[in-house]
Amino acid sequence: MGIPVTFLKGVKSKRAAMLEALSVRTLEDLAFLFPRGYEDRTKVARIAELVPDMEVTLTARILRMDFRQIRRNFSVMNLRVSDGTGEMTITFYNPKYIRNKFEKGAVMCFFGKIVKGYYGFEMTNPVFEAVTQEASQSQFSSILPIYPLAQELTQNFLRKTVQEALALLPPFQENLPASILQQYNLMDRDTAIRTLHAPKDLRAIPEARRRLAFEELFTVQLMLMLMHGNHSKDRMGIHFTGEDQTQNLLAMLPFRLTPSQEKVWQEIQQDMASPMPMNRLVLGDVGSGKTVLALLAMTKAMGNGYQAAFMAPTEILAEQHYKKIQPLLSALGYHTILLTGSLSAAKRREVLEEICTGQAHCIIGTHALIQKDVVFCKPGIMITDEQHRFGVRQRALLAEQETTPDILVMTATPIPRTLALILYGDLDISRIDALPEGRLPIQTFVENDTRRDRVYAWAKKLVEEGRQVYIVHPLVEESDNMDMEDLLSATENYEKLSRSVFKDIPCGLVHGRMSGKEKDEVMARFLAGEVKILFATTVIEVGVDVPNATLMIIENAERFGLAQLHQLRGRVGRGAHQSYCVLFTNSTSEVAKSRMQIMKESTNGFLIAEKDLELRGPGDFFGTQQHGLPQFRVANLYEDIDILREAQDAAQEVIRNPASYGACLENVRKMIPQTIAL
Ligand code: ADP
Ligand code: MG
Repeated sequence: MGIPVTFLKGVKSKRAAMLEALSVRTLEDLAFLFPRGYEDRTKVARIAELVPDMEVTLTARILRMDFRQIRRNFSVMNLRVSDGTGEMTITFYNPKYIRNKFEKGAVMCFFGKIVKGYYGFEMTNPVFEAVTQEASQSQFSSILPIYPLAQELTQNFLRKTVQEALALLPPFQENLPASILQQYNLMDRDTAIRTLHAPKDLRAIPEARRRLAFEELFTVQLMLMLMHGNHSKDRMGIHFTGEDQTQNLLAMLPFRLTPSQEKVWQEIQQDMASPMPMNRLVLGDVGSGKTVLALLAMTKAMGNGYQAAFMAPTEILAEQHYKKIQPLLSALGYHTILLTGSLSAAKRREVLEEICTGQAHCIIGTHALIQKDVVFCKPGIMITDEQHRFGVRQRALLAEQETTPDILVMTATPIPRTLALILYGDLDISRIDALPEGRLPIQTFVENDTRRDRVYAWAKKLVEEGRQVYIVHPLVEESDNMDMEDLLSATENYEKLSRSVFKDIPCGLVHGRMSGKEKDEVMARFLAGEVKILFATTVIEVGVDVPNATLMIIENAERFGLAQLHQLRGRVGRGAHQSYCVLFTNSTSEVAKSRMQIMKESTNGFLIAEKDLELRGPGDFFGTQQHGLPQFRVANLYEDIDILREAQDAAQEVIRNPASYGACLENVRKMIPQTIAL
């Protein structure tokens, strides 16, 4: 679909291949390759007037040139230039493709940032252009887009090519309803797209961005609203009353609710008392005490004569919850059962019977809970733990019960505010902001290979003191062929270390290619304290609770997202002992370093998630494209929260008045992906 880029004069197969690396195949793709920034060349400066950190355009003559090949892959070129008011140095690192563009005596334009160096002012790797004719000088003193580059593509080539494509393409069709454009004061789509590529002045850029970000956020929002279905709207929920049993439960707990838990519990109680069905998401960091809130809500439902269901993402977790919850509920006189996929056929029939007749009051399980043959007698509340593992579709399924039970979703995935609003736009959100007091914060260290021996010796010492250790490795995907030799695989590392440094210590191994049974067996032995050091991939990420584990070692930490590192780290620090986390990385990239620094400095999941988003910038939700939602080209989840709010209001308006927005809804419906995993 669309006209291929090779249609353009200057684009032959070689450049087409380079454009392909930017996912650009057609003229339309070029139009949607938005600049990642701009050069404001309207500010022409003189060397005598420079101040550090300024971004400026200079016109200067080259006085001297000096090129040095320092290592095989590393060269430096220095230019000494003058504009009559002063001199300065311009440095290019690895100037392989550009070296022959300079000559002594030539007058050139340079655009870049000024830094104060040893020999006065300097510019490093600036954008440059020869000053030959007036035309080029006038082009140079304007606002120029900076495009993302790949391979040997240059800014000049992209600028020219994008403009050629825009000149050939017909006006871009509007796809927001006119009334919304008007209400939210948005510029039309064609103007916005063309403005981003060639802004007349700097002030035009934010408005164009806002218009396009609005469209992206509006579309995703509408998609999710359509997928979630209309479950909370016109349906009647259950009006729960009475407090007795929850009071009894609170009296049985060895602790008091924290103020943060108390606040969320109030919110849940209000929802449950209301005749509208509850649809609430509880965001709470690892260890913030979400389970007790689930337990309270379930008890309230059971106290009113309804059944309660609690769904966990894995069998291990379902069992862990069952073991903790069953005795407490039993003391209150309720019958709790466990329903997972691994029940024998006979046991399963028995359990289903108990659910269907109402003998079972509380049902804890995995997604086996929402199979077709599971029929509840009187469902009152459905709770899902660690929600992101289930995704939106399952949530819609839950809501398709005949009567409308209350729904409570709990997640420890620290989601930034914007993301939570997008993904859970149909839910009310509660946040547990603080951990119970008296927890020792986990101490985090960032180390490289030179420190391995010491870290292993330390792990050994902790094991001798009776503690347990996790060593986690990134998942090696088959398609993933970058830097493979740098990656430690869980299996290899286990084979090696359990025979050398840790040969006297019982070690275990879990990874995704093992069967559920094998995994559970090893996990059970780790839980029981028989296995002291557990080598693992990220299969242990969610919810597993081994309070005696106090050291988490993460290999190739640069490979993980910050939210994931935080979740992994949360596997320790669950008991009375001081816990530690060691992040091994040999990466020297600046981004990797700042990410590790964030992990070292903060144990607050929400803060980490926000920082992660800030570092990552616009684009993808989770750092991968696999969830199936469209990628953002303009919207920035970190910065665009105000635009998101407006887009959300607009989407709600559309959902409420389908008759007036038929065409818009039809368009968005067509875009809903067949498979989606959030
Ligand atoms: P998560 O939010 O990660 O699911 P849990 O519900 O598993 O956290 O709680 C973590 C631990 O904190 C549990 O051992 C729980 O008993 C304990 N806990 C929960 N609430 C409190 C509290 N208010 N005071 C002290 N300990 C608490
Ligand atoms: Mg939990």
